[in-house]
Amino acid sequence: MTTDDAVPTCLARPPLPGEDDNPAGCVAARGVDGRPAHAAALRFYWGPMDCGKSTMALQMNYNHARQGRRGLVTTRIDRSLGPQVTTRIGLAHEAIEVTDALDLRTLVRDAWADGVRVDYLICDEASFYSVEHVEQMADLVDSYDVDVYAFGLATDFRSSLFPAAQRLFELADSVARIQVEVLCWCGREGLLNARVADGQVAREGAQVVIGDTVDTADVRYQVLCRRHHRAGDLGPGSGAPGT
Ligand SMILES: [Zn+2]
Repeated sequence: MTTDDAVPTCLARPPLPGEDDNPAGCVAARGVDGRPAHAAALRFYWGPMDCGKSTMALQMNYNHARQGRRGLVTTRIDRSLGPQVTTRIGLAHEAIEVTDALDLRTLVRDAWADGVRVDYLICDEASFYSVEHVEQMADLVDSYDVDVYAFGLATDFRSSLFPAAQRLFELADSVARIQVEVLCWCGREGLLNARVADGQVAREGAQVVIGDTVDTADVRYQVLCRRHHRAGDLGPGSGAPGT
């Protein structure tokens, strides 16, 4: 984008004290319901582990910040088990931990009340949020004109949709599979996460169990192609009997 394309940002949210809610040149087209016609959007980016979701989330946050936009980053059960988004390639960013009790709309309203701009939310690990959180994301887009970018897994270790991911597929303005190639041991495209316990692909258990991707963990996860996820084949050298 060149500077010639720059258009003054129209405020979609309530103006902060002393802030102009109609900057000169702002083309604040409004729909018949009086809401800004430049629609905020709910976007869901999904993919298996290791496909770079958190990296993309932080990159998106960086890109928006460079354009002068301000956002909040939220996460749940990040691999660091702390209130931050971390990535396997070493990036990290402070994040707000999402709990069942947290209402994302209240989070934004409280920030506004404190004079903090929030133009967008970046919701990492969104498949671990509740369905209610996804409803709140839709509210933020439709009633608050805040963009929401959600990143997460689509399916659990059994290849069934996480409830929040299902709701995101149902409600999001757009869904996109992240196109960073992650491969199964056989070289095919990795599609599904396998939970590995005692060297075997687990088929039963709680939907969310924290594990890691290193071989020494009691419970670990491994990305497999559909064929080898369904067959429960972790490949040669997996430590399973007969391999
Ligand atoms: Zn495979």
